[in-house]
Amino acid sequence: MNLLLLHPAEISAGCALIAGRRAEHIRSVHRAVRGDRLRAGIIDGSIGSAEVLEDNGETIRLSYHPGDQIPPTALPLKLVIALPRPKMVNRLLQAVAAMGVKQLVFINSWRVEKSYWNSPQLSDENIREQLLLGLEQGVDTVLPEVTLEPRFKPFVEDRLSDFCADTLRLVAHPSGTAPCPVALQQPATLAIGPEGGFIDYEIELLQTQGFTAVTLGARILRVETAVVALISRLYPA
Ligand code: SAM
Repeated sequence: MNLLLLHPAEISAGCALIAGRRAEHIRSVHRAVRGDRLRAGIIDGSIGSAEVLEDNGETIRLSYHPGDQIPPTALPLKLVIALPRPKMVNRLLQAVAAMGVKQLVFINSWRVEKSYWNSPQLSDENIREQLLLGLEQGVDTVLPEVTLEPRFKPFVEDRLSDFCADTLRLVAHPSGTAPCPVALQQPATLAIGPEGGFIDYEIELLQTQGFTAVTLGARILRVETAVVALISRLYPA
């Protein structure tokens, strides 16, 4: 946790009372005690600091000191990702939030197991929690927006074009003929396939919406590795 994130409603008269994961982290990783200051921010707000006032072993009382540090610039990249297996969802959400992506759509695809759509990892509560973990890691306060689109064709035909208006449209596909571009100077929308890859029909439908199939080369990467490799290549830090 490189940034303690507080919800505005948690702060009253300049103080916040926290418990659970964040309090445990402050104790066991930061080893912060009374009087110590931590970097802290307000969800969807600015970054300042918090001072530990009291720790009773269960809850920690902090005073919050607003700062004028603004969160890092968001990536000009929207992601459209075929829903991965549930145990990968959390890691993916954390990674994309930490890397500065602000819009992500999970879509269906022929090779996505139908049961994945019923997984508890897709609850609003879990998605938010994983995004917050990613923001804490990446020292950012701005919550990404995550949308679920459990029907591929209606989404691609009816809504995708609006979603990626004014962006370069790319679909990552190992057998794509174009190399994935490097260091884009413009906003982009990137589609990423499921574990088994997009089927030909899906690639063709994405191409009718202006997407170009791009490859990272012959090595086929796991989805969570491919996402990080693609983002780093499109928008090097
Ligand atoms: N056998 C599948 C195929 O050939 O499409 C492999 C799918 S891969 C595990 C999952 C997704 O990660 C792909 O659909 C693609 O979006 C992305 N990916 C993985 N390796 C890639 C590469 N070398 N180039 C482009 N995209 C890649």
